[in-house]
Amino acid sequence: MLEKALASVSEMESAYHTWRNRPLTTRKEVISRIREKLLTHAEQYARAITTDMNKPLAQALAEVKKCTALCYYYLTHIDDFLRPQPLQSSWTESYVRLDPLGVLLAVMPWNFPFWQVFRVAIPNLLLGNVLVVKHASNVPTAAALLEEIFLDKSLGFPIYKNLPLPSQHVEAIIAHPAIKGVTLTGSEPAGRSVAQCAGKHLKKSVLELGGSAAFIVCEDADLTKAVTTAVNARMQNAGQSCIAGKRILVQESIAEEFTAAFTEKVKALKQGDKYDLSTEIGAMAREDLAIEIEEMVKQSLAEGATLRCGGKRTGAFYTPTVLTGVTPTMRVFREETFGPVAVITTFRDFEEAIALSNQSDFGLGVAIFSQNVDFVKSQAPRFDEGAVYINEMLISDPHLPFGGIKNSGYGRELSYFGVWEFANIKTVVVK
Ligand code: NAP
Repeated sequence: MLEKALASVSEMESAYHTWRNRPLTTRKEVISRIREKLLTHAEQYARAITTDMNKPLAQALAEVKKCTALCYYYLTHIDDFLRPQPLQSSWTESYVRLDPLGVLLAVMPWNFPFWQVFRVAIPNLLLGNVLVVKHASNVPTAAALLEEIFLDKSLGFPIYKNLPLPSQHVEAIIAHPAIKGVTLTGSEPAGRSVAQCAGKHLKKSVLELGGSAAFIVCEDADLTKAVTTAVNARMQNAGQSCIAGKRILVQESIAEEFTAAFTEKVKALKQGDKYDLSTEIGAMAREDLAIEIEEMVKQSLAEGATLRCGGKRTGAFYTPTVLTGVTPTMRVFREETFGPVAVITTFRDFEEAIALSNQSDFGLGVAIFSQNVDFVKSQAPRFDEGAVYINEMLISDPHLPFGGIKNSGYGRELSYFGVWEFANIKTVVVK
């Protein structure tokens, strides 16, 4: 299995030399055809996602649609992003151009099996890099389909290869001389392991890791909007999202009003058949993940948290859960709760909200609800996060850079940063 994967990497090295020399117009045509496939076969692809990891079909369809939007974004912006940038210097002429690096390894998670891959693949393919992808073991159908989607028969060579490998073989792939960079989206332990290998073999790396984002609701917030958005921010994809609002911080004066309205909406979420388009929340991706969440909740209840709803597991189904009275010492506050569990902590004033928000090993982003936008904007520098969203939940959007600090990783995807990370930023000087 490993020998085959290493042979694929060598094959991709020769494909890279051809691909990088194709004009940008050709690379754009290939990406346009990939986008067309997404539009034509959206239902088939969405069903594969749903089958593999239990995401309700409606949300899987939205994921595929989002990939088409990402393709469109890069197709319309890539000429600008790759145009050489003149820089003033004492030389006759000096400029910076972006060139590709070579074959990249992408180690991908199961929670958004298409979206995570597309946001790495599209900017890098347009730049001229090619990819080998080690996808999560529990999304084999999606992983194989992705290779088919990226195969453009008119080219006569592949630009994307799926490597169906267990994670212990990742180091051997990173060590292959043709691999010029590695990006991992996944958990903190996986990130540490990949960063270590990348360092050992001197390969550029990007890490998109976990998060435990605060969702702050101030007393002057539009409460209806904050409640509705908080439910979506926490429960979308059965809570299995890096940017989910994992720690809901509510100002004391409105805490009970917020909690009552929020709990009602959480209880009303339709949990059920993943293929039913009206299902809002499905089973978690695997039973062991639901068991882990169940354990975290039990431990926090024993530590003094109050259960407002949910807290029941049947196989991989975990009922949407709300916990109040959560304090920073509890496990559900300290660790990433990767499941449908909302934890609510109160704060007295904005100073305390900032302190609680920053009291996390993660730093992917924070969402803050308040009508005093000027004040919140003035406080943005004080949040140790990769993103501050005001009156909106954290969302990954092709137009905006995405990535974290602290244990959420390093490097950025999307926007023009998504093209820079694995580019050779080449200085050209003429005298
Ligand atoms: P995971 O267990 O870390 O797995 C992610 C990928 O890494 C899988 O392909 C996995 O392969 C591989 N992997 C695991 N251990 C590895 C190791 N020691 N060396 C090399 N590769 C290894 O994470 P997950 O459970 O799939 O995904 C959930 C995590 O991803 C959460 O923490 C979530 O917050 C994070 N995430 C972050 C972002 C972001 O953009 N920041 C986005 C989505 C998810 P196997 O499946 O074969 O084990």
